[in-house]
Amino acid sequence: MASLFETPITALRGVGEKKARLFARIGAPTVGDLLRTYPRAWEDLSRPVPIRLASSEEPAAIRAMVTHAPTATRIPGGTTLYRASADDGQTSFPVTFFNNPYVVHLLREGETYVFYGRVSPGPHQRGLVSPEFFPAAGCPPFRPVYRQTQGLNSRAIGQAVKEALLLLPQTVRDPIPDGLRAARGLCSLPDALRAIHFPETAQELEAARRRLIFEELLVLQTGLLLLGSRKREQTRFPAPIDYTEEFWRRLPFSPTGAQRRAVREAVADMAGGAPMNRLVQGDVGSGKTAVAAALCWQAAKNGMQAALMAPTELLARQHFATLSSFFADTDVRCVLLTGSTPKKERAALLEELADGRAQVAVGTHALLSGGVAFRRLGLAITDEQHRFGVAQRAALAEKGDAPHLLVMSATPIPRTLALMIYGDLDLSILDELPPGRTPVLTYAITSDKRARALGFLRRHAQEGRQSYLICPMIDEGDDDRASVTQYAARLREKELPGLRIGELHGRMKPAEKEDVMRRFAAGELDILVSTTVVEVGVDVPNAAVMMIENAERYGLSQLHQLRGRVGRGSQQSYCILVTDAQNQEALSRMKVLCATTDGFRVADEDLRLRGPGDFFGRRQHGLPELRIADMAQDLATLREAQDAAREILARDPQLSDPAHRGLRGAVHLLFAQRES
Ligand code: ADP
Ligand code: MG
Repeated sequence: MASLFETPITALRGVGEKKARLFARIGAPTVGDLLRTYPRAWEDLSRPVPIRLASSEEPAAIRAMVTHAPTATRIPGGTTLYRASADDGQTSFPVTFFNNPYVVHLLREGETYVFYGRVSPGPHQRGLVSPEFFPAAGCPPFRPVYRQTQGLNSRAIGQAVKEALLLLPQTVRDPIPDGLRAARGLCSLPDALRAIHFPETAQELEAARRRLIFEELLVLQTGLLLLGSRKREQTRFPAPIDYTEEFWRRLPFSPTGAQRRAVREAVADMAGGAPMNRLVQGDVGSGKTAVAAALCWQAAKNGMQAALMAPTELLARQHFATLSSFFADTDVRCVLLTGSTPKKERAALLEELADGRAQVAVGTHALLSGGVAFRRLGLAITDEQHRFGVAQRAALAEKGDAPHLLVMSATPIPRTLALMIYGDLDLSILDELPPGRTPVLTYAITSDKRARALGFLRRHAQEGRQSYLICPMIDEGDDDRASVTQYAARLREKELPGLRIGELHGRMKPAEKEDVMRRFAAGELDILVSTTVVEVGVDVPNAAVMMIENAERYGLSQLHQLRGRVGRGSQQSYCILVTDAQNQEALSRMKVLCATTDGFRVADEDLRLRGPGDFFGRRQHGLPELRIADMAQDLATLREAQDAAREILARDPQLSDPAHRGLRGAVHLLFAQRES
């Protein structure tokens, strides 16, 4: 099988250079890839029904004899209509085609065919319009349906797969070790490949699917576990002395139990042995920044440097301010490096990082740029890691010599999914909010109640509390979505005159943004009209109301993030979702938010409503694309595959046993594709 992945698709009969480019487009540049390009559906021709019973909702197979061969009729508009009659033994019905002269030769009077298509109810009579059809003798029980591309339709792909199957040897090196395959009662790889493309029965198809799903998840899990264990070597940055008590005493608050636990776990990782490789998951407002700060302190005090990377300039600046205040009057020097750091300042900073005078660097992805070098980078922290790909997470680490790694995510991920996506990371969970927080009350309203909601914002402003107002776009576009600039102008002139209203959006210069945020944080603004740039991480405890226009445009996790900007103090805070959406899915999202403030529950619901593909987007978790398994539906199999992978690696960590050759090959193949 492995060699088939080196056999170009042009080895197949009827596939030349031009076709080969089309096959490359569907992800099948080689014969092996083509065999692994599974159908997305199967037309079931094995159980024909009488047309009388066929649903008009879904395509059906109907076995019928042609009683009148097709005859052509011209209709206005240059169309030629071909009409035949067929009889399924109970009903006589019309079969119609448009502009398809070939059917005259293909459909013969007196012959029986299996037709496949959606039954059109018709004004007088049920019938078929442009169905597919096969001579009943020799009609395959199932027909694979492939994802097609322009110039390469499903039928042509199926033809090529047939050819490819001829090249498949009877015995291949199976990624599933024989013993495991036997124990789970799974079919062989060649059988599975034949059956997934051209099943003879529904049972055979099911057996093939079961096997291929397990295989795919086994390979994925094994690969992820191997990635994790690659770092099993000894760290070059042991931090054996625990300075965290000293750090906690510096804080203006006492840490929560969850913060202490997460830091303790990380400090233990950093003490010696293998480099730390840990994910901290915490709900919004659970205090991840303090955890990061404690670990930067721990690193610095143990004689190494630390870097903290945030996805936005705003957030980097805020983290810098927070850390600087925690480290004030100590010998731990913290610097800020972003895309807008002036050239001269930047040069000086780079020197400080290179010679080790600055121990802690806070910044954006500017930290990854070529000129940045550390003397002794021992700890790399990525905040809001879902905003970065796996590659960027690795890039920061590459600034050091296998430093300790900590990634922080404020998009809680259902635990099962986290274990699988971050199979290579250890997990700390911040499941406790700082004391004295009052849960945010959330309401969904329609836009005709907007005036009342704005009155609510005004009352809060009069009490000295602040509000965020989120609009989806910067300038008024060609639709009626609210926009920051115009929305703010309207508030100033008409709806909320006298209040101090600021604006924040992605197109402002960093210095302007920073100035607005500083004024908002200092209480010099009552209302901040903003795009979702405030979504991530921004922390202003006096803010009491988060009002979100066009709330239907955002996903659950994003809305939860936005809501997390309020409720950071002890007073009651509110989230107002403004939407006129009617569709069920949007309404369910609003309902979930009104019902819970628990980010882990929100995440579960998000996963349920959207499925894991959307939940992350491929680019955000950086995993290879799955061909057949579905992370939401095959979660049970996923767990079993993970157990199996652990067992295999426990006995054979390098996969050097000949029985694991197939698995090793498949892992290499899967993770090699990731780089391309
Ligand atoms: P997130 O986990 O969303 O990044 P932050 O780190 O921004 O949360 O913290 C949210 C707010 O909670 C900040 O104002 C921070 O000062 C405060 N905070 C963090 N830890 C504690 C604590 N243990 N006690 C009281 N307030 C805390
Ligand atoms: Mg944060």
